[in-house]
Amino acid sequence: MKSFKPKQFRQQFPLVVNNEGNRLPVNGSSQISSSLPLVYFDNGATTQKPNCVIDSYHSFYQTTNANVHRASHTLSVKATTAFEHARNSIKTFINAKSNKEIIWTKGTTESINLLAMSLGRKILTHGDEIILAVSEHHANIVPWQLIAEQTGAMIKIVELDAMGRVCLPAFEQLLNSKTKVFCCAHISNVIAKINPINELIQKAKSVGAITIIDGAQAVAHFPIDVQALDCDFYVFSAHKMFGPTGVGVLYGKQALLETMPPYQAGGEMISKVSFNKPTTFNDLPFKFEAGTPNIAGVVAFSKAIEFISAYDAKQLCDYEKQLTIHCYQALQNLTVFSKKIVKFIVPGLPDIPVISFTLNGHHNHDIATALDSYGIAIRSGHHCAMPLMEYLNISGCLRISLAAYNTFEEINYFIDCLKKILTQESDASLTFTNKRDVNEQASAMIITQFAMVKSWDTRHRQIMLLGKQLHRLDKNMRNEQTLISGCESLAWLVSQKNSQGIFNFQADSDAKIIRGLLVIVLAAFNGKTAVQIQEFDIESYFKSLGLIQHLSPSRGNGILAIVEKIKKIAL
Ligand code: PMP
Repeated sequence: MKSFKPKQFRQQFPLVVNNEGNRLPVNGSSQISSSLPLVYFDNGATTQKPNCVIDSYHSFYQTTNANVHRASHTLSVKATTAFEHARNSIKTFINAKSNKEIIWTKGTTESINLLAMSLGRKILTHGDEIILAVSEHHANIVPWQLIAEQTGAMIKIVELDAMGRVCLPAFEQLLNSKTKVFCCAHISNVIAKINPINELIQKAKSVGAITIIDGAQAVAHFPIDVQALDCDFYVFSAHKMFGPTGVGVLYGKQALLETMPPYQAGGEMISKVSFNKPTTFNDLPFKFEAGTPNIAGVVAFSKAIEFISAYDAKQLCDYEKQLTIHCYQALQNLTVFSKKIVKFIVPGLPDIPVISFTLNGHHNHDIATALDSYGIAIRSGHHCAMPLMEYLNISGCLRISLAAYNTFEEINYFIDCLKKILTQESDASLTFTNKRDVNEQASAMIITQFAMVKSWDTRHRQIMLLGKQLHRLDKNMRNEQTLISGCESLAWLVSQKNSQGIFNFQADSDAKIIRGLLVIVLAAFNGKTAVQIQEFDIESYFKSLGLIQHLSPSRGNGILAIVEKIKKIAL
């Protein structure tokens, strides 16, 4: 067993640290001479990969690549051995009884879809009940909604206790003889508290319900023993625990898996196929593995398991805990103009290094974009948990999710940058141009002003300042009719056309960055005729501003959705 040494551990992640120990430049590197360090705090979405996982791909394709289970030639045997060895590693890692209980999937999402479509279709009928927690990820909601619609089953929602965990008394009240499936995250990807999973499983079993645990966040942070949990199914993804994307696991008790019909059909999952007799299916686990699997990914995943299992788990967990406490307390103590500003979405320290919060008076997307301009990657939005956002009465939140390769220095840098952003944001003396009506802002003038700056963080600041110049729409004009669909944040657009056929658009958004981008878009289209609007080359305009390449795809798509709506109106 290796002792966990943070520095040495970090050194094994090339995207985070290069060989000399310098952080890799990411955002802004092409724009400015002094490149920004990457601070990667989005590990809940996916972790970076250690060298051994990256090398495994190279080595697999250079020495082992062949299809599995199909041929008797030596290379296929070698590939099959590596593939099945990986299954055995996972079996040991989560303490399953047999390799037959480990099914390879694309990830947690596919594992849950498999269960909903195979098991759900088989056991659910009209009036049956499926219990989900209000804090579930969409991956654990939507497949059940689809199957409920197909079978006539109903979804019941269990709420949370004051600390954000699934509420046991509320759960007990929902249980009855109609409860057929209970599907719940071991830990929510937003709340980050361990649910009382043992009690929940036992109570669900007492009414004969099938228990499915989404371990996507849990498995990356502490050991899982599926036999001790005694759940029927446990699902997770490789990419959240230093493994590759496109590989996931469905653990299921053998007796149950045996009763379930196949999910997808094709090669490998069959025993005998005939046009004259019914097709018969392969044994477990192959019955659920139709087609050529992600062989190289599965083998690389086993390297991630070997990598992580080599460390003293307690030391690694302790380090993550210290990072969490440091970050949580720094946020808790953060003051801007002597005012505390951070609002955690639930009270109390999280159980895994995932911290979700909002900042009073600031839009989450604005903060995440501003942090990105300092090289800090954090997540903002609904985190694929829209019902939870609704339950908490927030439109979204910011989420920092740490891994064992993160450092205290990175957290301090993040806090310093956040403070800088929040104090600059409130600095009214910063002005980009004279305050004037957006309608008079010529696009040429914006281009000229943007041309004078080279770095993305300065451009970002200019966009934010432009946002301050946008005339806000009246509240009653911000409604369903004026809402632009396709934007990550809320954005509204209204238009007027005068007797000469000249258009005037007004727009608004709840995010400052979008308000800034709206100024830029409106400057391009206001005061133009329908023909001029159609002919305006928006791509070149954005290119000359050096804009689109720095916007996240969703934000870029949001801006393009606004442009499309303007063009549609002009048509
Ligand atoms: N459940 C939870 C709790 C998650 O955090 C995630 C990923 N954010 C998923 C399900 C879906 O995982 P994947 O995208 O890897 O299928």
